[in-house]
Amino acid sequence: MADQQAVPVGVPLGKPLQETAVQEFAADFRGEIIRRGDDGYDAARAVFNAMFDRYPALIACCTGVADVIAAVNFARENELVVAVRGGGHSVPGYGVCDGGIVIDLSPMKGIRVDPDARTVLAQAGVMWGEFDRETQVFGLAVTGGRVTHTGISGLTLGSGSGWLERKYGLTCDNLISADVVTADGRFLRASEAENEDLFWGLRGGGGNFGIVTSFKYRLHPVGPILLGGMLLYSFSRAGEILRFWRGYMETAPDELGGAAAFLTAPPAPFVPEHMKGQIVVGLIVCYAGPPEEGEEWVRPFKELGPEVDLVQPMPYTVIQTLLDPGSPPGRNNYWKAENLYGLGDEAINTIVTHAAGMTSPFTHAVIQPMGRAINRVGEDETALGGRDAAYALHALSMWENPAESDTHIAWTREFLEALEPFSTPGISLNFTSDQSEDKLKASFGSGKYERLVALKNEYDPTNLFRLNQNIKPTANGTARG
Ligand SMILES: Cc1cc2nc3c(=O)[nH]c(=O)nc-3n(C[C@H](O)[C@H](O)[C@H](O)COP(=O)(O)OP(=O)(O)OC[C@H]3O[C@@H](n4cnc5c(N)ncnc54)[C@H](O)[C@@H]3O)c2cc1C
Repeated sequence: MADQQAVPVGVPLGKPLQETAVQEFAADFRGEIIRRGDDGYDAARAVFNAMFDRYPALIACCTGVADVIAAVNFARENELVVAVRGGGHSVPGYGVCDGGIVIDLSPMKGIRVDPDARTVLAQAGVMWGEFDRETQVFGLAVTGGRVTHTGISGLTLGSGSGWLERKYGLTCDNLISADVVTADGRFLRASEAENEDLFWGLRGGGGNFGIVTSFKYRLHPVGPILLGGMLLYSFSRAGEILRFWRGYMETAPDELGGAAAFLTAPPAPFVPEHMKGQIVVGLIVCYAGPPEEGEEWVRPFKELGPEVDLVQPMPYTVIQTLLDPGSPPGRNNYWKAENLYGLGDEAINTIVTHAAGMTSPFTHAVIQPMGRAINRVGEDETALGGRDAAYALHALSMWENPAESDTHIAWTREFLEALEPFSTPGISLNFTSDQSEDKLKASFGSGKYERLVALKNEYDPTNLFRLNQNIKPTANGTARG
């Protein structure tokens, strides 16, 4: 560690942080504690979204439950701002803070599959690429993130959308139990049988109620070879392609997952010259059944005459990497999401008009079909709202030059504002950089937000865990945030 006497430690919430308190904490901590000036500090504070260049006082790299309990107690007793980091992919930058403590779970990488019971126990620092690699040894999977370096933690707690969702539901729908350290440093297990109220809140309520140290999921037979990939069509056909896709996905089986997307065609060898660098419309497919059956269901997309056809049988683990090249860490990101009642012609026209004006070649606009298994879980069964949405629209702006931020943010906001006439009151909170308080409440739905506030009052009455899609406590009149 560097000479800490020379290094100021900012403590925005309360009393000044005493060096002796830090030393006592460090003496009893098994993982690494990284402070400003230490080797590795810059790498440890970096998060996926380059818009968040923050300087925490301490980064506590936890190796297990005991470290998490020690870090929570230290943060609470010293009134520190707390950021909890799983995979570091939070687009609003919740995985890092200025001046406080980052409770970094990324060293916690344990994964144990029980192939007979078709379950897996995974620690909070696991990322989707690591998770899929282990479960696919047994031909098993759960709906998971579409980029390998997204963390299982934040994704599961906020919902968990992936290629398998129409067949197997969201990630949170497959959660069997979670081990949790609460704001008072207690260890609890939450499941249908223990602390059921907490278990309800963890499935969609984000990181509000405690730090989950491990997740136990139900698994399903998947692959290992599935039909997957992308078809690209020229932008001039966008309206026609979307109208066909909408109608087709409404009748296709649950196994056919995927999305329609607007993107800038890369200068890759498989892209025809006239398409390179142009905005194009793509259909992404992942068929969660036998590949030969998938070929039949995907044939109509091929009959539309794509200019690029990359759909073929491939390992599920490869399908899970297909979006990695387009989503590298270290770019600036501003994301907005809407849930749509349907995809009528007017909504399609609005989407096509705004997609045509995409301001960055790295940006994607993605339409996901919802419903099916997502909608078979009752609206009140979990904290997550919006299960009745027919489609989700994600405008994912990405760019490299920070001087361009205003332009890209403005495009994203204008696009989503134009979709409001077709949108449900709530949104998918995992895919948004910011939202109003009203949108946050509407995303859980009427009645459920009050239940979440009651949970927050019970498990985190002082709002220790506030860097998240925050549900503000009302208990004690002492809440921070
Ligand atoms: C490139 C990219 C691709 C994505 N793809 C998908 C996708 O396919 N499907 C999808 O649903 N979402 C996707 N997302 C959104 C993603 O679900 C959220 O960004 C999610 O928060 C990421 O989780 P994380 O652990 O990586 O993030 P972090 O930044 O580490 O954490 C995010 C939030 O969760 C809280 N948190 C993290 N770990 C814990 C824990 N163990 N206990 C309690 N609270 C915790 C943090 O406090 C923070 O509020 C994607 C995001 C990116 C950047």
